[in-house]
Amino acid sequence: MSLCMLCNGLATVEKPCPKCGAIMIDAGLLQDYYDNYSAYLGRDIYEDGYRCHSGLCCVHLFACPRCHYDVSLGFKRVEKEKLMN
Ligand SMILES: [Zn+2]
Ligand SMILES: [Zn+2]
Repeated sequence: MSLCMLCNGLATVEKPCPKCGAIMIDAGLLQDYYDNYSAYLGRDIYEDGYRCHSGLCCVHLFACPRCHYDVSLGFKRVEKEKLMN
C-alpha cells in the first residue's frame, strides 16, 4: 500500500513559478481534469512526459495565481508501512 504525501496532507510543496517567482498552488490531481472514466486510463494519458510508471507517482497540477502558468509534477508515492516507522 502506497500513498501520496500531498494527497494525504502529509507534505506541502511551495514551488516558485518559473516565470514570475510567485508561489504556485497545488491545483489538485491532474486526473481531476479529465472525465471520470479517464481515471481508469490515466497511465495512458500521462504519456505526455509526466508518465507515472506502475502507479509509483501521483501527478499534481500546480498553477501560478499571478500569471496563470501551470505545470504538472509527479510525486513519488511512499509506502504506508515506512511512514509508520
Ligand atoms: Zn497526490
Ligand atoms: Zn507566475
